[in-house]
Amino acid sequence: MDISVICNNCGAPIQFDDTKEYMFCWSCGQKILRLSVLTAVMQQQKPAAISNKPQAPRAAGSNLAITYDSSMSNVNMTVFFGGGSQPVLFTSGKSKKFHLEPGHHDIVFQIGNRSYRRSIDIIPGGAAYKVECGWCDGRAYISILQPSGGIIGS
Ligand SMILES: [Zn+2]
Repeated sequence: MDISVICNNCGAPIQFDDTKEYMFCWSCGQKILRLSVLTAVMQQQKPAAISNKPQAPRAAGSNLAITYDSSMSNVNMTVFFGGGSQPVLFTSGKSKKFHLEPGHHDIVFQIGNRSYRRSIDIIPGGAAYKVECGWCDGRAYISILQPSGGIIGS
């Protein structure tokens, strides 16, 4: 089988016969090893990282802000974004910003010993979501403020 490669010395296009251990560039005479050709081909074919999992949040270009307030200092909140990302701990008064990839996200808010699942759909280029969470008098609340300003979950 012939493999289309480019001479790394002069840039000439070469049809490399992969039954041979090496060839010489027709243009500049550079010795081209079969091993280096196969390595180059494998690198070209390496698929781009495609993941169906929700992406871990990152701080740059945040489109989600989460705040947490608790009337009891020993009741904390842990937020699970899924996708193998690290859970994020919130103590009372904490506010953190995140960047989520566009798409549907199921986020679990664990407040005290109870867990609440909420869905957020991130629209590319859309305005940031604001999520206000808290624990007050033995009750948890989670308010998701849509980019438009309406509350879609409580
Ligand atoms: Zn060459």
